[in-house]
Amino acid sequence: MKLKLLLTGNELMTGDTLDSNSAMIAQMCLDSGIQVNYKATVSDDLDQLVGEISRLSASSDMLIINGGLGPTTDDLTAEALAGALNVDLEEHPQAIKHLIAWCDTRNYDLSEANRKQAILPKGVEIIDNQKGSAVGFKIKLGHCLIFCTPGVPHELKTMMSREILPQMRSLLPTSHQPKRVRFRVFGYGESSLQEHITKTYPNWPKQLELGFRASMPLLELKLKVDYQEDHKLLEKWHTKVEKLVGGHIVTDDSRSLAKVVVDLLAKQNKTVTFAESCTGGKIASMITEVSGASDVFEAGFVSYSNTIKTSVLGVSEADLHEFGAVSETVVRQMLSGALKASGADVGVSVSGIAGPNGGTNEKPVGTVYLAWGSQNLVQTRAFYFPGNRVFFQKIVAALALDLIRRDLLGIEEAPIYFRERKIPN
Ligand code: ATP
Ligand code: MG
Repeated sequence: MKLKLLLTGNELMTGDTLDSNSAMIAQMCLDSGIQVNYKATVSDDLDQLVGEISRLSASSDMLIINGGLGPTTDDLTAEALAGALNVDLEEHPQAIKHLIAWCDTRNYDLSEANRKQAILPKGVEIIDNQKGSAVGFKIKLGHCLIFCTPGVPHELKTMMSREILPQMRSLLPTSHQPKRVRFRVFGYGESSLQEHITKTYPNWPKQLELGFRASMPLLELKLKVDYQEDHKLLEKWHTKVEKLVGGHIVTDDSRSLAKVVVDLLAKQNKTVTFAESCTGGKIASMITEVSGASDVFEAGFVSYSNTIKTSVLGVSEADLHEFGAVSETVVRQMLSGALKASGADVGVSVSGIAGPNGGTNEKPVGTVYLAWGSQNLVQTRAFYFPGNRVFFQKIVAALALDLIRRDLLGIEEAPIYFRERKIPN
């Protein structure tokens, strides 16, 4: 099934409007198992539009045209489609009815300009627009089914989900029933996870599509089949991959890492605290972005200077002097102080060198120490994340949350980053 998109509008060509509609259409279609395989964008130029409609429809089963349904003179979709079909334009009774009803509920008079939205190519079928004045419409050109859709994103979205997708799905062969599963993973990069999977399973079934999408700090992993007959295979490989990736899987839904941690804390009836130096409050900020954070989080500490590490968290001045702020001893004391001051059950502390200055041979820029756990059991470890300051802060904040997540779940298997993120010596 070949599906193409034609985006229209001068504002897309000039960059005044960023084209988000094509991404929305593509994602919605993909969820229904239909992949967009080509898209084109053209300005509001009648000849160009007619040419593109003819060209694209000749080589696809379905074409979605977006934008240009409105009442103004730059809205040319109906005229262009009539040109490509070689039919006349005429007022469509169902479209005019929709317009009159639309104006009635808003107490507008139907203007001449508005009436234009009902002048459509002869022979089209109307697609209801529940959110706007301009109806959508569809018609076949050769063997290609063309859908004309509104440019206004929320109108488009509703029309896609309520009208167009069900129609598109009904055209697919019954055996075409795509199914996919997703995991969100922390700790692997795209290439290392791909390598891990393909090395472990060199005979990966060809019906099973494997997809990756980096969405910092997580990596999304997708398994997909297109046909009903392969659903069992998907289930089997879902289990295999789940075992292989193990504790690195943060979730199999679309939750963020912070949301997963908040949910776990809530479930276990625990509270969390943070003592942050180089992350400057980022960890606490990620947690408080999640609604429901107040049930599990009372206080975090941004203890940036040594003085505050001592006065607020009770870190020993002598130890700061002897081992330095970026050290196992100090993060241990930072965590202990934060747990004591907040009364939280679990916590993480972080101290590192975000750079670009401040690195030494022994502790280069990118070195970070973390301590995590509860008063009874604290673990510590040093990691190395060279890169720019912002990247460093982001990844370390995520790492802190992942360590808490692993701790709460009691995952014993060591994560890949214990091996890969050691300080070079
Ligand atoms: P209207 O009735 O408002 O004229 P229309 O169906 O004619 O709607 P356009 O005129 O092409 O659609 O676009 C209307 C508005 O929708 C644009 O001003 C723009 O804000 C938004 N829009 C259009 N195309 C896109 C796109 N590809 N991505 C995101 N937004 C878009
Ligand atoms: Mg318009």
